[in-house]
Amino acid sequence: MNEFMRDRHSSDLAAMTQPGTVYLVGAGPGDPGLFTLKGKALLECADVVIYDALVSPQILAMVNPQAEQINAGKRRGAHSMLQPEITQLLIAKAQLAAVVVRLKGGDPFVFGRGGEEMAGLIAAGVPVEVVPGITAGVAVPAYAGIPITHRDCSSSVTFVTGHEAAGKYQPEVNWQAIAHGSKTIVIYMGIHNMAHIVEALVSAGLSPQTPIALIRWGTRPEQEELISTLATVVADMAAAQFQPPAIAVIGEVVNLHTWLSAGRPQPLAIVTDYPAQ
Ligand code: SAH
Repeated sequence: MNEFMRDRHSSDLAAMTQPGTVYLVGAGPGDPGLFTLKGKALLECADVVIYDALVSPQILAMVNPQAEQINAGKRRGAHSMLQPEITQLLIAKAQLAAVVVRLKGGDPFVFGRGGEEMAGLIAAGVPVEVVPGITAGVAVPAYAGIPITHRDCSSSVTFVTGHEAAGKYQPEVNWQAIAHGSKTIVIYMGIHNMAHIVEALVSAGLSPQTPIALIRWGTRPEQEELISTLATVVADMAAAQFQPPAIAVIGEVVNLHTWLSAGRPQPLAIVTDYPAQ
């Protein structure tokens, strides 16, 4: 446990009369060097950590070895816990533990359902705080040499979910408006729906020659990139058997990749005292 968090930790759980605090912590996109100091301090003094599938092993290795660790991983097609079950689990754990960390990829409030979990905890009277993380839509393009705004060609950016087919987001994505709304479009969870997205953007008037970058496992050692155009991306994805998780970036900023990727960062190599879980 570190000094910063010592007063937040209860070593005598039996004496607890109030529920503990749940921290909704953003783990960033993978490179442990992009994790916040506040998030790391909380992991080091956590009693319970409930984490998602996209959290990198180097960050899980920072968890207090005495903490209970629960994988609530939710990758497409392999649900291990449903959202209401996760919220119930957080409420239950907060009755027993002082510091409960809910660790999510990227930022908890960017396509991370952090608001839903926070609402559930507040309704149950459980103290809750959010600790923002670096969202994939900003850091992942950066690690591929793509600035999402650039004075010469993009003064605006839209973050959008490509996973709207299941009707998860209300109101549904208006691709017509998105196509004209900003110069850069950053799409989360868009890989399985890419054919539909491209068709919608081109019918809305975007040139088929508009550049697009797909970046998989960005900021991690296994990062993969596919640079294409709206006209060719679906065929290129099929040829490369490109898989999620990936961020898509659409717009002229993608062209900067050819010279800015020379300044691409390397993931931080962290040596920890305890092995990855
Ligand atoms: N809360 C997260 C997003 C969760 S939605 C955040 O703020 O980043 C999950 C989607 O995020 C994935 O389908 C993918 O589109 C994107 N994503 C998350 N981490 C990523 C990574 N390291 N590389 C590429 N895409 C990533």
